[in-house]
Amino acid sequence: MAGSPVAHLIDGREVLSQSGATFESVEPATGQVLTEVALGGDEDVDRAATSAAAAFDDGRWQHLPAAERAARMRKVADLLLEHADELAETEARDSGAPLAKAQGDVVGAAGAFTYFAQLPEHVSGRTYAADPGYLLYSRRVPYGVVGAIAPWNFPLLLAAWKSAPALAVGNSVVLKMAEQTPLSTALFGKICLEAGIPDGVLNVVHGDGATGAALVRHPLVPKITFTGSTEVGRQILRDSAQEIKSVHLELGGKSPNVVFADADLEQAIEGSLFTSFFNSGQVCTSSSRILVQDSIADQFRAAYVQRARNLVVGDPMEAGTQLGPLVSKTQQDRVAGFIESGKEQGATVLVDGGTDPARPGYFVTPTVFGDVNQQMRIAREEIFGPVATIVTFADEAEAVRLANDTEYGLAATVWTTDLGRAMRMSEQLQAGIIWTNCPNHGQWNVPYEGHKVSGLGEDKGLECIDTFTHLKTHHVNFGGHRYHWA
Ligand code: ADP
Repeated sequence: MAGSPVAHLIDGREVLSQSGATFESVEPATGQVLTEVALGGDEDVDRAATSAAAAFDDGRWQHLPAAERAARMRKVADLLLEHADELAETEARDSGAPLAKAQGDVVGAAGAFTYFAQLPEHVSGRTYAADPGYLLYSRRVPYGVVGAIAPWNFPLLLAAWKSAPALAVGNSVVLKMAEQTPLSTALFGKICLEAGIPDGVLNVVHGDGATGAALVRHPLVPKITFTGSTEVGRQILRDSAQEIKSVHLELGGKSPNVVFADADLEQAIEGSLFTSFFNSGQVCTSSSRILVQDSIADQFRAAYVQRARNLVVGDPMEAGTQLGPLVSKTQQDRVAGFIESGKEQGATVLVDGGTDPARPGYFVTPTVFGDVNQQMRIAREEIFGPVATIVTFADEAEAVRLANDTEYGLAATVWTTDLGRAMRMSEQLQAGIIWTNCPNHGQWNVPYEGHKVSGLGEDKGLECIDTFTHLKTHHVNFGGHRYHWA
């Protein structure tokens, strides 16, 4: 029906909220409403969780032969690529990300399904040394229903990233995308259905934080996988305490980007710009906290600042745009607040970006601060916008001290041509991912885990088998078992 709200996908059917409630999905480049979307309440989450649990219990997915599950997952990958144009355009409009980034994310989402389609064949267990007369073994078994909650910065990619491994090992999924960017996930749900993921195995419920919280608290959902802010991660841990759920969290970061004097300077400048400003800085692993060695600081700063000024901020749908708008007015105001705080707390403005009240949409142009100290908010808090800070250091020891002076521990980038230094830094930096001369590099087969307040548990890689299954042991007596009362 033309003009009707974008629906949930529950038990293989598109349905609106039982209450009839909706919310607006807004185009960040214009501030105009794109469409209405069903707003999931407790009763919609309950319908989705109940259908997912029933689909799990009757074995329509978990008891398919591994090769069959794998084939259907590969079909999801094929269909994602077939629908690439529609998915990328929808995502670029809904999230404000440049079209080229959205196109890359479709390929990434298909890659997730292709990679995780290998998992069903690799779920296994162990046998154990046993006393005579016993067979003792363990198996990894799916949890049942996985509640997957995702943020708005890589919507389609994260929808796939969360659901593909959970499905691969036999779980059902209830997926809740961020309220800012529901549209590509709505298409994703239908594609999964078309690919043969059975009714009820992949459910999509749209909504906001309250919808996510209802999913976390639902008794039929024993496993939660969440990507988002550390603050919400903490709330999820609190909300899951009653049912003692297994919680997997990929949270925020404040990642350092350490440039040594022996670095390939051109490579370091280009890579530092990319990791600071890609997706307008709305990346959890964005390494926008730049630490640069004294002896090359002037040279680095001059080139970095010059190129930051030349980055192309514009219409996400236009070729050549490097930075689109931020996702929402709330995010734009938040980032503007950080820029203001940097100025108030005495940092030097090297690139005077920010917002332009005359411009429609939620644009923020690149901003770079120098003379930043560790007490400033811009040095400590995750900004999630196109704002970088530059701090200088004298030697390796000071670089390590500054880099680790944060509660976060997601990623760290090092620029050096000295192999020994790269290895020493990797040993000492407190982060789950270390990049030497290649920030933001990733492959599906390499796991991903935040340290400190940046996360709990592993994403990606074969490690996902452990993330999305739990252990079950079987003690078999085939002779002479005796009870010893005393
Ligand atoms: P960001 O800071 O990137 O906006 P959030 O952590 O606020 O990310 O949100 C990420 C996801 O978590 C979104 O889908 C959002 O709706 C959801 N969410 C927000 N609050 C809660 C909550 N209390 N419980 C569960 N999910 C929540």
